Amino acid sequence: MLRRLMMLTPMLAIAFVVGCGGGAATDSGTDATPVSADAGDDHAGHDHDGWWCKEHGVPEADCALCDPDVAAAYKKKGDWCEEHNRPESQCFICNPKRQEKFIALYEAKFGEKPPAIEQE
Ligand SMILES: [Zn+2]
Ligand SMILES: [Zn+2]
Repeated sequence: MLRRLMMLTPMLAIAFVVGCGGGAATDSGTDATPVSADAGDDHAGHDHDGWWCKEHGVPEADCALCDPDVAAAYKKKGDWCEEHNRPESQCFICNPKRQEKFIALYEAKFGEKPPAIEQE
C-alpha cells in the first residue's frame, strides 16, 4: 500500500509538470485539460500528506480507518478494538498514550511534530 502511494504521487506530479509546462501550449486542441490541475500542483509541494494520515494520526499505509485491507490485516492478527472499530494498537480513544509511538515515527522522519488529528 505504501509503495503504491509513493509511486502514484510523484507520477501525478510529473504528469502535471509535463502536461502543463512542457510545451503543450502549441497544440492544446487535442489535450484534455485536467480539471484539478491546480489542486494537484498544490499537493505536489506537500509530500508529507501522502505518507501521513492527518485524520487518524498514523502513517497512511498503516491506517486501518482509511484502508479496509489494512483493517482486515489487523483483524486477522487479533489486534482490533471492537468498541471503536479500529486496531487496538491504534485506538487512541482507549489509550491516548498509544499515539506517542506514531508521533515519534513522524518526528523521526520529518523532524517535527505531526499536525493535530483532524476530528470530524
Ligand atoms: Zn486514516
Ligand atoms: Zn478502543
